[in-house]
Amino acid sequence: MSHEEHDGGLTDEKGTVVLMATATTDRDLTLVADFVNTLDVQSGSDGLRSAEALRGWLVERGLLATAHPVTEAGLGRALALREAIRGIAERNNPGAEVPRDEDPVETLNRIATEARMVLAFDPGGGAHLTSSDEGVDGSLGRILGAVFVSMADGRWERFKACARHACRWVYYDRSRNRSRTWCSMDECGNREKARAFRERRKAGR
Ligand SMILES: [Zn+2]
Repeated sequence: MSHEEHDGGLTDEKGTVVLMATATTDRDLTLVADFVNTLDVQSGSDGLRSAEALRGWLVERGLLATAHPVTEAGLGRALALREAIRGIAERNNPGAEVPRDEDPVETLNRIATEARMVLAFDPGGGAHLTSSDEGVDGSLGRILGAVFVSMADGRWERFKACARHACRWVYYDRSRNRSRTWCSMDECGNREKARAFRERRKAGR
């Protein structure tokens, strides 16, 4: 199987997106972070405002063949996936308040089913987690595949959503003891610390 390499993804000769299970770089998780951070929760700025914007985003990253259309329903599934991944990333951050009324896992399972994920072994001794769908569901499957591989190799627990609820930006925590709570100290850390200080003072503690 020959692979053509794109910016963030790998596709085979049929344009089916595959994921190298043996990838040693963090390129896959960078892709996941880029996807989730297309929505800046704080400012409301959204890179996936329309089906066409989603199509452009996926094509640019080699996740979707140019000819494939993206429907409104496909956009809806992508946005649901985006928030579900943000939701499970938030659970990786002990400092974050996790909303109890949301069930991101149910969404992830639904998207995985729709993407018809398959495990494919190749003669070279490797294996790919891929999607048998060539449309937008397959693209979303590629993103899910990256989440899965990082869970399997232990990197996932460092993938977090910022503990400041107004922010919820996702990032990869490279700190030695996995203690990073905020996306950045300037943007969120200091603000949260100041807020906690004010609250303690008000409470007379
Ligand atoms: Zn933040």
